[in-house]
Amino acid sequence: MRTRFDYQRAGTTSEAIEMLADLGDEGYVLAGGTDLYLDWKNGKRLGTVVDVSHLADLAFVEDGGEEIRIGSLTSLRTLEHLPHTDNVRRSLASLARVMCTPQTRTLGTVGGNIANSSAAADLPPLLAALGAAVHLVGPAGRRVIAVEDVAAGPKRNNLALAELITNVQIPAGPGVATYVRRATRTSLDIALVIAAVSLTVGTDGRIAEARICLGSVGPRPIRALDAESALVGEHLADLAEDHLEASGRLAAAASSPIDDMRASAAYRRYVTAVLTTRALGDAVSDLREGRWAA
Ligand SMILES: Cc1cc2nc3c(=O)[nH]c(=O)nc-3n(C[C@H](O)[C@H](O)[C@H](O)COP(=O)(O)OP(=O)(O)OC[C@H]3O[C@@H](n4cnc5c(N)ncnc54)[C@H](O)[C@@H]3O)c2cc1C
Repeated sequence: MRTRFDYQRAGTTSEAIEMLADLGDEGYVLAGGTDLYLDWKNGKRLGTVVDVSHLADLAFVEDGGEEIRIGSLTSLRTLEHLPHTDNVRRSLASLARVMCTPQTRTLGTVGGNIANSSAAADLPPLLAALGAAVHLVGPAGRRVIAVEDVAAGPKRNNLALAELITNVQIPAGPGVATYVRRATRTSLDIALVIAAVSLTVGTDGRIAEARICLGSVGPRPIRALDAESALVGEHLADLAEDHLEASGRLAAAASSPIDDMRASAAYRRYVTAVLTTRALGDAVSDLREGRWAA
């Protein structure tokens, strides 16, 4: 049943924090409203929503070459238009393009996708593979946390009362190859499995850093740490298909999917291995061929 809720419009970020602090458990941030609307439609009692959707200082993209800052109110549609100048920007833009529908991408925001903490949210796994940090502001001041630490579980986050995501900071240095692979039943479905990988190669030609993050196969984004370790130190020229497949299997071992009406846990685990291997294969090819080197 849809219940009545109250509406407040914040004039500034500080005012939003004050309003939310006063409202306590009864207050909800309204950004694009695309997730909040679904929750409300499904019977969630919203109390009072605090509208921040018009706060221009939270809607920006600052492209500083080796770092990108994306304001929390930046729409998914804006992300879609990042220039394909390197692998990091290309992977963010390509992912945004397959999320939701054009209408939902126009309203839905980057901060909302992260804060909502759906187990199937698309952005957190890729942002975690990229080593992104989330900037927060609240009654106790400012703090910065890793994007994979925002979600506490399905639809629960680790934000304190009245804390807001202000922006996401994404490293975009040279020598990085990033890929995200996403399995769905139809193109409009939310992801059944997400595997995002990022490989950084050192000047000695060896993998200096590997980051693999999985989505939709656990209550929150999962870093596949054993699979990452199995890649670090390997020479790019020696990375054979069976090594990548073994990393894919290690990633699947780190997943903890559930059976639901969209797919079985066994299927999701199998697809995790396949998608991770494919994403790694694409990243290795790019690095070998020097594509997308910033
Ligand atoms: C038809 C449809 C298709 C969709 N398809 C996809 C898809 O393919 N992939 C996908 O990942 N998602 C999908 N979504 C989900 C949704 O569109 C995205 O998660 C979107 O990015 C949410 O952003 P929003 O601004 O609308 O969030 P809102 O609905 O405004 O907020 C979501 C939650 O986050 C909180 N919040 C919002 N902004 C902040 C902030 N700055 N600081 C702190 N808390 C905040 C809100 O209080 C609320 O709890 C879909 C939704 C719909 C309706």
